[in-house]
Amino acid sequence: MAELANCPRCGAVFVQMMRPICQSCYQAEEKDFQTVYTFLKSHKNREASLQEIAASTEVDESIIIKFIREKRLRTSEFPALGYPCERCGTSIQTGHICANCSDELKRELKHHERVEAISSTSKKQEKQPIYYTMDQFKQ
Ligand SMILES: [Zn+2]
Ligand SMILES: [Zn+2]
Repeated sequence: MAELANCPRCGAVFVQMMRPICQSCYQAEEKDFQTVYTFLKSHKNREASLQEIAASTEVDESIIIKFIREKRLRTSEFPALGYPCERCGTSIQTGHICANCSDELKRELKHHERVEAISSTSKKQEKQPIYYTMDQFKQ
C-alpha cells in the first residue's frame, strides 16, 4: 500500500511507492548518476577518486557515496572508487566504517560492557551536578 512520507532529500511530502525519495529527487538523482557514470566510463577517468569525480561532475560527494553504497557504481568496475570510513577516514567501498575500525569497535564494546558492569555501582556519584564555589565572585 502506498504511504505518505517525507522525502529524505528535499523534505517534500510524497506518496511512497517504489522509491524512498520523491519523483523530482529521483529524477535529479538519475541525472546525477548518468553524469557520474558517463564521466567514469571515459577511460582516463576510470580510476578517479571520489573527490575528483565530485569536482569534475559537480555532483555532491554524498550522492556519489550513495551510488557506491547502493552498488550502482561498482567498485569492481572502477577500482579507485571509495569513500572515507566514518571513524578514521580510510577509503572504504562498503558499509560505514573500515574493517579495522569495525574490529576495534567490537573490542571496545566488549571492554565497555566490562567497565559498565564494574562501574555501575559508582554511577550515581558521577551523575551528581557540579557545585561551584563562591570564590569566583570574590574580588
Ligand atoms: Zn524530494
Ligand atoms: Zn576506519
